Amino acid sequence: MREIVHLQIGQCGNQIGSKFWEVIGEEHGINATGFYEGDSELQLERINVYFNEAHGGKYVPRALLVDLEPGTMDSIRGSRIGALFRPDNFIHGNSGAGNNWAKGHYTEGAELVEQVIDRVRNESESCDCLQGFQLVHSLGGGTGSGMGTLIINKIREEYPDRIMSSFSVMPSPKVSDTVVEPYNAILSVHQLLENTDATYCIDNEALYDICFRTLKLTTPTYGDLNHLVSMTMSGVTTSLRFPGQLNADLRKLAVNMVPFPRLHFFMPGFAPLTARGSQQYRALTVPELTQQMFDPRNMMTACDPRRGRYLTVAGVFRGRMSTREVDEQMLAIQQKNSNYFVDWIPHNVKVAVCDIPPRGLKMASTFIGNNTAIQEIFRRVGEQFSLMFRRKAFLHWYTGEGMDEMEFTEAESNVNDLVSEYQQYQDATADLDWDEEEEASSSPATTKVQSQMEVKLETVTETSQETVEDAEHTV
Ligand code: GDP
Repeated sequence: MREIVHLQIGQCGNQIGSKFWEVIGEEHGINATGFYEGDSELQLERINVYFNEAHGGKYVPRALLVDLEPGTMDSIRGSRIGALFRPDNFIHGNSGAGNNWAKGHYTEGAELVEQVIDRVRNESESCDCLQGFQLVHSLGGGTGSGMGTLIINKIREEYPDRIMSSFSVMPSPKVSDTVVEPYNAILSVHQLLENTDATYCIDNEALYDICFRTLKLTTPTYGDLNHLVSMTMSGVTTSLRFPGQLNADLRKLAVNMVPFPRLHFFMPGFAPLTARGSQQYRALTVPELTQQMFDPRNMMTACDPRRGRYLTVAGVFRGRMSTREVDEQMLAIQQKNSNYFVDWIPHNVKVAVCDIPPRGLKMASTFIGNNTAIQEIFRRVGEQFSLMFRRKAFLHWYTGEGMDEMEFTEAESNVNDLVSEYQQYQDATADLDWDEEEEASSSPATTKVQSQMEVKLETVTETSQETVEDAEHTV
């Protein structure tokens, strides 16, 4: 058995984390109290990756729920799936982090972190063969962001040979009104750069745009955004949870997807896009699913892959379909768009088919792209960071918690370096002399790529406008 320990930190982390457990619980036939009610052997074959089996055949998520204030965790405890989690694994403080990364990382969070690590040890020790950790958090606040990255660093110290992956929600002013979010996010990316092996970038800007433009929801709520997140998280973990060969554990996935250690920030995507509770009119065909999963409008990051290049891609198709057709369609996309895939990593697109579709759909596909256009997120948030930092605006909130201004400078330049590294590999060709070529040439490879754009991908998703029932958090 290869187990994963899951941690969800802060308001966003706990909200999307709980959705994740709700969705995968249903996929594996585990009811809200932890008992199996499924109908397929496949549901239990790898159940131990995410669930512990307790006395009496109850399945318990291997999950830790952490926050610096009690509110969000209280509502999870009181929710339909509240009884699913192990009560000892709820760990909270009372002070809050006030959207201040320094409080999460250095002061309030640091006081609570040993309790968390104790529970991590406890869960890890009862594993047969732990493969690694997944952490779910936002980067814009204080707890998930500051304390989340502190927890990552501590786990890394104690389990240096285990894989660390994160689902990290990037902030967007379209969704939140807190002005210091770029500070919190860039300070976090600075940490994730060194201490995660794989980070799925979930960008609130993209989630908002999908809700607004594609799903025609005029005032999306966190519930709507999180529906997209939960489909994506269920999708990208499919190959870990169900039997199959491709990317069957965290390490294999990281080995296939990450050609350079720092370039481990993924662009996830999903097709078909549906609103919460809405029904699909008809099952999509394999060609439609393939087109949509590569469509920029189906990406959960607000970056246009056509402005970058794919280093690597992993796709998972779910439902009953012809594997041959999937292979053919994926090959066709690559051949038609060969300019969008670096030519110095052969066979950089991998695809798997899993018979079990996500709930409510006949067929679906999930996309994990390692694309150099991800730099657009870091540029976007980095620019917002620099505008404030140049004037040292709001800095006293951080220095007041004991932080040194140097850390801001270092974070800023580390993220700028990351952007340059993505650009460098975007421009690189199979010819090793690209360095010299680049200097000699007046038109960089990116312009070439754009002028050779061949595909125009069309979204054919049909969605119905939906009324928002549980508008508990209006965005
Ligand atoms: P923390 O509790 O201190 O970690 O703070 P939050 O998790 O509330 O962090 C604030 C950031 O998270 C902002 O960018 C919010 O837009 C975002 N956020 C908060 N809750 C959710 C949620 O449920 N879903 C999504 N997608 N984003 C959220």
